[in-house]
Amino acid sequence: MGDVNALVAHQDDEGNIDLVHEVVDDSFLPEGDVEISVEYSGVNYKDALAVTPKGGVARSYPLIPGIDLAGTVRASSSPDFAVGDAVVAHGYDIGTARHGGYADTARLSADTVVKLSGLTTAEAAAIGTAGFTAALSVDALVAHGVTPSDGPILVTGASGGVGSVSVDLLAAAGYEVIASTGKADATDLLRTLGASDVIGRVPEEGEKVRALGKSRWAGAIDCVGGTTLAYVLSTVEYGGIVAASGLAGGADLPTTVHPFILRGATLAGIDSVLLPIAPRRALWERLGGDLKPRHLDAVTTDVAVTALPKSIHSILKGSVTGRTRVVVH
Ligand code: NDP
Repeated sequence: MGDVNALVAHQDDEGNIDLVHEVVDDSFLPEGDVEISVEYSGVNYKDALAVTPKGGVARSYPLIPGIDLAGTVRASSSPDFAVGDAVVAHGYDIGTARHGGYADTARLSADTVVKLSGLTTAEAAAIGTAGFTAALSVDALVAHGVTPSDGPILVTGASGGVGSVSVDLLAAAGYEVIASTGKADATDLLRTLGASDVIGRVPEEGEKVRALGKSRWAGAIDCVGGTTLAYVLSTVEYGGIVAASGLAGGADLPTTVHPFILRGATLAGIDSVLLPIAPRRALWERLGGDLKPRHLDAVTTDVAVTALPKSIHSILKGSVTGRTRVVVH
């Protein structure tokens, strides 16, 4: 109990948003049965939207952003958590409608918190929301019955958070991964993660998306949306599946029904935000076990929480490679 060091987003009357370091009283934090000493948070695409005017993510200000956090339980009135437990939490309304990870203390409801096993708090934060979403996407392909012998898997936005961890997880599971990226300088990293081939963004500049193109992938993981997702749907093989989680390239979906009715394609929606706590905890347990990403260090860049006011928006330009872990304290 006492003071909380926090990065607080304020919105002024003109709609501008300012990120300010403040020492707030702990009564600023919401009610919750688990109090966490936050060690790490992250910068996800959604974190940048939460501090962008009309970003459509934050429900009210002032807000401590940070949609994911990892740390140690400092106090708990829940039988599920003891002082000293290493935990991770993300999703629900954390960092959007409830104060999140950009503060040295977080107070959360126990039924939104995951106890870590097989992962340090630093590793859990490196995975973060984006890596968890990658794991959900890979699971969707596996649940659909796609096996490594079925053919290549396309990953779009491959150098980003969701994309890079997807490449890592798919390659570890034995899939042939084709990584699509707009960053020529990410090729070496993507090959290190296990990509068999690295191609440019799809569709190519000036290329028209046809209702059905040549079948190229047994499955795909897409976090880009827009024309990219339309292209991926039009080129997935008969009976293939596309796991769609994001809108980094646009929220529209200019497609037709042809991939679905002529190729039996499946479009699987991936949501990490409202996923219930039981499957969330089960997937984190696997992320600390058989599913543990092999190249977390290679994809993770650390940034101090104090640097965020200057750097947080760059992810919206699609120019950030890998995962950005925020060192809180
Ligand atoms: P990143 O910015 O790290 O990754 C997105 C990547 O997409 C970029 O690095 C870039 O990769 C590519 N990209 C960006 N802009 C464009 C564009 N205009 N056209 C084509 N490709 C583009 O973000 P995250 O990985 O954190 O998140 C990715 C998306 O997934 C976001 O929309 C986010 O909101 C969503 N998301 C959804 C979740 C869910 O629960 N559904 C959870 C987590 C994320 P490259 O340069 O390699 O092409």
